Amino acid sequence: MNTQSRPLHVTVSPTTRQSLANLQRVFYAARGFDRISRVYLQDARRGYLRWGADGKVRQLDELNPHLSHEETTPAVNGMRIGAPVERLDLATVTKVSQAISGEIVLRKLIDTLMRTAIEQAGAERGLLILLHAGEPRIEAEATTVTDALLVKVNEQPVTPIALPESVLHFVLRVRENVILEDAAAEPSFAKDPYILERKARSILCLPLITQGKLIGVLYLENNLAPGTFSAGRSSVLKMLASQAATALENSRLYGEVQQREAKIRRLLDANLIGIFISRGTGEIIEANQAFLGMVGYDREDLLAGRVNSLDLTPPEWLESTLDARTEAKRTGAVQQFEKEYIRKDGSRVPVLIGLAVFDERHDQGVGFVLDLTERRRAEAEARESERRYRETLIGLAHANRITTMGQLAASIAHEVNQPIAAISSNAGAGLHWLGAQPPNLEEVGQTFGLIIRDSMRAGNVIRRIRALMNKAPMQTELLAIDEVILEVLALVRVELAKHDVWVQTRLPEALPLVRADRVQVRQVILNLITNAIEAMSEINEGDRELLISARTDDSNYVLITFRDTGPGLDPNSADRVFEAFYTTKSDGMGMGLAICHSIIEAHGGRMWAGANHPRGAVFQFSIPIAQEGVDRSQ
Ligand code: ADP
Repeated sequence: MNTQSRPLHVTVSPTTRQSLANLQRVFYAARGFDRISRVYLQDARRGYLRWGADGKVRQLDELNPHLSHEETTPAVNGMRIGAPVERLDLATVTKVSQAISGEIVLRKLIDTLMRTAIEQAGAERGLLILLHAGEPRIEAEATTVTDALLVKVNEQPVTPIALPESVLHFVLRVRENVILEDAAAEPSFAKDPYILERKARSILCLPLITQGKLIGVLYLENNLAPGTFSAGRSSVLKMLASQAATALENSRLYGEVQQREAKIRRLLDANLIGIFISRGTGEIIEANQAFLGMVGYDREDLLAGRVNSLDLTPPEWLESTLDARTEAKRTGAVQQFEKEYIRKDGSRVPVLIGLAVFDERHDQGVGFVLDLTERRRAEAEARESERRYRETLIGLAHANRITTMGQLAASIAHEVNQPIAAISSNAGAGLHWLGAQPPNLEEVGQTFGLIIRDSMRAGNVIRRIRALMNKAPMQTELLAIDEVILEVLALVRVELAKHDVWVQTRLPEALPLVRADRVQVRQVILNLITNAIEAMSEINEGDRELLISARTDDSNYVLITFRDTGPGLDPNSADRVFEAFYTTKSDGMGMGLAICHSIIEAHGGRMWAGANHPRGAVFQFSIPIAQEGVDRSQ
């Protein structure tokens, strides 16, 4: 008879009831009168079994243990693997089932499971072993101490001191329940260190399987007597194991959901960033205050279903938003991306958003939103101040800032004198043409034209000089020139790249500090680099290289050198490059080097130029080392 396929619940017909009553009589007779033979008892048991009267079978077995032994599959060498499920006592089934499935909180469930298992099996000690990423770990231990049952829920590793590992691994491998009637006498496991040490007797080890997945093992032992775990009991325990596996898995899932919800709730309530939960239709069903504030809606709007993430999305962002949602549905989450939302008042808010969908409900997802307004403003401000900074620096270099007027006075006088002299001679010529008979008006007109041109030239010179004079006085500080060089190089990085200029620096560590005006020194360096770039841009052959080096010289000066591979200086006018208004460029002013020269002199230094080898120009300047900041390493 295939007992495994028999149902647990039976309906009893009137004829069957009659037969049962007869059997009961036989049973009572058997209990009370020895003369009723054992054969009758066997008949009674078989009858009960056939009609599914499991409680009665159990009762009979308890009073006459030999009966069940004779009836069940005999154990091979005292070991039963995959013992068949006997019919179960309905009351026990209900009790076990209710106890286990009633618990959803993992700790309580484990406690109930262990207590029920120990009680049902008549075990002395029990272990619940669960698999964590395929690795078995002891999750709980139940022990009977005198009359009390102690359950310890405490994760610990599987060790040979805790249980017979050979039995555990056997069960994990074959995924069948194993009953050892006398473990110490069982050849396959007798050598297990635990069994040897503890003189283990009855052992029952049940795999916990739910939906075909092995999630752990229930291990029970009774070392007081062999054969404690009869096949009949094992049926209840097997049913218990299967219920427990499902309940444990449910409890784990429930715990995960709870943990995740708690995390989301904490995040939502923290209002650090905007968070919303939305449906596939875009309807936002939950959102925190941070998000609502961002888009200008209130909780009432939310509850009335008036907040929809797709309606909040401007048309130009709709396509990318829908793409992101599809991606999130497919992969579970989407990389954060930037977009805009339309606020309730119609204005726009730039945001950074990340999306994730819930594992079990793909039609719902959570969005994490960061308001980018402040960041955008800061970025714009940074860009603007960077632009102004560059403008000022370039302006400084090209607007020909001057520090010592005296040196330039002669050149200025010369520059202004020239057009004035031309004006006066042209005026004389004009008078001459006017006095002629007849007056030559054409020549008069031309001389007036020349007078206007020269007066404008003089006016321009004066305007430029006025601009130079307005600059602020020198403000000195302790300065690391090498740092200023790197700062300027960062500023002209784009220009250097645009003109294919390769820069090399040789700046020693801990170059002594100088006392200087940072803005003016920066201007000198910028001017020299700009001149080198412009000079090298004129040539198309060979590499465009600029070498900037710094060192201290013997007389306590910091010496800075700029070597380029441009056309170099014209030997006939090399000493004139520092003169004001000396320029070889069509749009040049010829003031840059004059100003650099005067700045360096004002700092107590020197500036000079020469030829580079094999080609190009060398510009150098020196500034005295500051007395108070010689050693930077201190
Ligand atoms: P600008 O650049 O307006 O001409 P500067 O005073 O900066 O005024 O330069 C004066 C002149 O010195 C330039 O016109 C150029 O002829 C020469 N010069 C400056 N730097 C270099 C250089 N690195 N290589 C060759 N010639 C240079």
